[in-house]
Amino acid sequence: MIGLIATTASGRGAAQRLALAWPDTRRYEGSAAQSLPRAFAECDAVVCFLAVGATVRLVAPLLASKHSDPGVVCVDEALRYAVPVAGAHGGGANELARRVTLVLGGEAVITTASDAAGCVALDEFGADLGFAVEPGSDLAAVGAAVLSGERVTLTGATGWPLPALPPNVVRAAAPEDGVAAIVVSDDATVTAGGRRVVYRPPSLVVGLGASRGVTATEAGDLIGRALGGAGLSPRSVRQAATVDLKAGEEGLLTAVRARNWPLTFYSAAELAAIPVPNPSETVRAAVGTPSVAEAAALLAAQAGPLVVTKQASARATVAVARVRPRGRLAVVGIGPGARDLITPRAVAELRRASVVVGLDQYVDQVADLLRPGTTVLSSGLGREQERAATAVAQADEGRAVALVGSGDAGVYAMASPALEQADGTIDVTGVPGVTAALAAAALLGAPLGHDHAMISLSDLHTPWAAIERRITAVAQADLVACFYNPASRERTWQLGRALSILAASRPPDTPVGWVRDASRAAETVSIAALADFDPGLADMRTLVIVGSSRSKVVAGRMVTPREYRWAGTP
Ligand code: SAH
Repeated sequence: MIGLIATTASGRGAAQRLALAWPDTRRYEGSAAQSLPRAFAECDAVVCFLAVGATVRLVAPLLASKHSDPGVVCVDEALRYAVPVAGAHGGGANELARRVTLVLGGEAVITTASDAAGCVALDEFGADLGFAVEPGSDLAAVGAAVLSGERVTLTGATGWPLPALPPNVVRAAAPEDGVAAIVVSDDATVTAGGRRVVYRPPSLVVGLGASRGVTATEAGDLIGRALGGAGLSPRSVRQAATVDLKAGEEGLLTAVRARNWPLTFYSAAELAAIPVPNPSETVRAAVGTPSVAEAAALLAAQAGPLVVTKQASARATVAVARVRPRGRLAVVGIGPGARDLITPRAVAELRRASVVVGLDQYVDQVADLLRPGTTVLSSGLGREQERAATAVAQADEGRAVALVGSGDAGVYAMASPALEQADGTIDVTGVPGVTAALAAAALLGAPLGHDHAMISLSDLHTPWAAIERRITAVAQADLVACFYNPASRERTWQLGRALSILAASRPPDTPVGWVRDASRAAETVSIAALADFDPGLADMRTLVIVGSSRSKVVAGRMVTPREYRWAGTP
């Protein structure tokens, strides 16, 4: 029983909505000072449409033990927040707050440690991969078990790039008696219910062939028999496929449409190239490919194994193939350092991952954003190739991997070594980040207002002669130059050399801006004339921007004018 305490019109309206949505509520009206103690004694949990402070004062004298007290959730007058104030886990208040937001909208304000980064809500688990929750799944009980830290088994998820689940969810070959279970399976004989949640992954492709005039009933019956006979769940069918010659075969189309499956058409030539167990010369003579159903299933499943070989009725054929899930690699730039310069999309990708790979100092920077249970594979400076290989290998195994880099992960960072190694069997997502040049430019003023070049002065992997050629080209083209990796303990002369090349063709008062630790606690921002700048001031945490001949300092800010014509010059 869930007690609903409301004292205002807004609270009573919201309580009414919860009462309509939930079968087990009891409403308390009148003064909260009287009704809250009653609800606390009579109910398993209480939702108070009251300020947190007022609720705390009323509840404090009633608290006995976190193992037996009812959970208490406060909802503010504007219904923006549902705040569990007591009994987060044992009293079910965290879960109750989430349920409140499902009905009333707003946000659950979860403050308990194990949930600080938020566990995946089970009703959304795998949703972006196309997982469907099998009806009868006990989302509430298993969700509560996951949140309470109880042992929960996870079966059949291998190969699916799912987000992290907390460490109390352990992989197991099969569900165990009496233990809450999460099962990923296209096996129709695996049923939901009884502290079990079953997800149907989009793992099956149905290949179809037909002779002219097949009815929807015949095709549908054959599909049903093929799936049923093999014990496969129709909910796991991600698509159907056939030959393009059947694009007008109404019965076939109707049967597929009735199941809401996307239908892909292949040419006879594409299908003929797929080796199949049951080719037919008669079919080849008629259609131009020795197999339609088996070949279409295999092709759409990207060569996954056939799980149902060709079955035929008078005018239809069907075969079913299983898809090999694809791993997922997100290459995520986390910005220059400040928390509010990481993009929301980067945060979402970090929370989407089950494995995070990166340089230890960058991974530390975002550790609090990761979901509990995320595997962190971090390593020290100079191990880029190894990190890239690790990230790709993890994705190849079907995991959801986030490879993090500072700034933008594609700028002098991890994206290239990773994507040089990754093949076409994994999905790759890039998330842009605020690169050091942009973070520094914003601090300096507007130095990048016209054409500019980024150059790394690190000659560890690039011969200095090549770097020097590029700097010379930048000098000739009068581009603003952004120097990454300007110096380190071992590399001390390169920046001086680069500046002297630019100085040969730029006025001595050309502004040079340099920013150390942009957006970090130790940030420093400076501007000097090219003739006066001391390259010894830059180190490996510094980004140096040398203006073009048009760049200037205005009110202490570095500015590169946009179009020459704007200034009125011809
Ligand atoms: N992927 C990173 C760059 C890596 S190369 C990005 O997009 O920003 C490393 C170089 O970037 C450093 O030597 C320094 O020149 C520059 N850099 C990175 N972060 C910086 C920061 N917060 N402040 C100043 N320079 C930075």
